[in-house]
Amino acid sequence: MAGLVAAARLRELGESPVVYEKGTRPGGSMLLSSCVVWRHRQWEDFRADCPAGDEPLQRLVWERLDDAIEWLLSLGAPVVWEKTGNPLTVGKRFDPVGLTTTLARAAGQIEVGHTWSDLTSQSDLTSWSGQTDPLVVATGGFQGSADLVTRYISPSAPLRLRANPWSTGDGLRLGLERGAALSDGMDEFYGRNMPDADFVEADFVPKAQLYGRFARVFNERGEEFFEGEVSWSENDLVQATARQPGARAWYVLDDDALEQRVRDRTVADMVATAQTAIDPGDLPFTAPPGARIAVRVAPGITHTIGGLRVDERARVLRADGSPLDGLFAAGADVGGISTGGYASGLAAALVLGLTAAESAAL
Ligand SMILES: Cc1cc2nc3c(=O)[nH]c(=O)nc-3n(C[C@H](O)[C@H](O)[C@H](O)COP(=O)(O)OP(=O)(O)OC[C@H]3O[C@@H](n4cnc5c(N)ncnc54)[C@H](O)[C@@H]3O)c2cc1C
Repeated sequence: MAGLVAAARLRELGESPVVYEKGTRPGGSMLLSSCVVWRHRQWEDFRADCPAGDEPLQRLVWERLDDAIEWLLSLGAPVVWEKTGNPLTVGKRFDPVGLTTTLARAAGQIEVGHTWSDLTSQSDLTSWSGQTDPLVVATGGFQGSADLVTRYISPSAPLRLRANPWSTGDGLRLGLERGAALSDGMDEFYGRNMPDADFVEADFVPKAQLYGRFARVFNERGEEFFEGEVSWSENDLVQATARQPGARAWYVLDDDALEQRVRDRTVADMVATAQTAIDPGDLPFTAPPGARIAVRVAPGITHTIGGLRVDERARVLRADGSPLDGLFAAGADVGGISTGGYASGLAAALVLGLTAAESAAL
């Protein structure tokens, strides 16, 4: 999303950007998403939910998002819900195909199947090495690289990818090569607990097992590992699951739990999508009294939370806080916005994409 947003804004500002899209189509994970672009209703809730996040960047996203959504509407992006459906948050749900089409049209020239490194190898385009022309990296994080996930996040076992396959940390690597600093929270990620079995893109949303707060949650050894209350996003439970033996957990449910609702679905509806649901008698430990069904879940990683350190102008920073010449970052390549919790990745991509464009155009 962030790259398309940046290009669309640059064109509005009279520039002639080119988007290099490594994948086979524009839209990245945005196209696969539920497309709810949101912020916390209250600033204090944002801080409380993501307490270790970079406060100036959080402030930027929180203060700029409403205008940024209006900008999307002005481009003609189609809305499917006027509200998020969560009383703690405000924003809109867009149609992902319509939003991608709208942004791709506004972005102008998109070179699908190319990365900027294709260009830097061409002698007549050496300015794209970043020495003179600005470069906005918006490659969507590093969740698609098993090596980088192991190095920075260190789950107990490999995590299945719940995102586009092309976000393999190219922006992070380029920034590091040029001397960029890393944000806090390099070991954090956003994801959903999914049935512990292979899944495909079409399963990303419908198979998410978003009811850990109603379950008793055990690891393979039968230990209830999660202490305290599970957050509404359940991202804390998902990350804790990644640290358990085999990076998996068991959600054990009684009749009451099965009747609970999350938005328009009951817990029983979500359990019905899981091929890893079993009779509690078949658990590798003694089931708690009243258990009706157990589901083996494992995290699907959607995007990384740590990444390049940037300032409020989306300039990539060195460790001493000075900006790298001509290098900007946006979207999940930017780290530290939702450290310690979870906030809308689309909101961050939208606001940082606009900001990067405006800084690059100066
Ligand atoms: C199933 C699912 C549901 C989601 N639901 C929501 C939701 O409701 N609300 C929300 O806020 N967030 C949601 N998200 C997360 C959201 O999609 C991401 O936070 C957002 O897309 C990140 O934007 P981005 O621009 O950083 O990355 P992306 O949108 O993924 O775009 C990155 C692009 O960079 C390309 N790329 C990678 N490397 C290179 C390279 N070297 N050169 C050129 N191009 C490259 C990729 O191919 C991709 O097109 C969801 C994600 C998924 C998968």
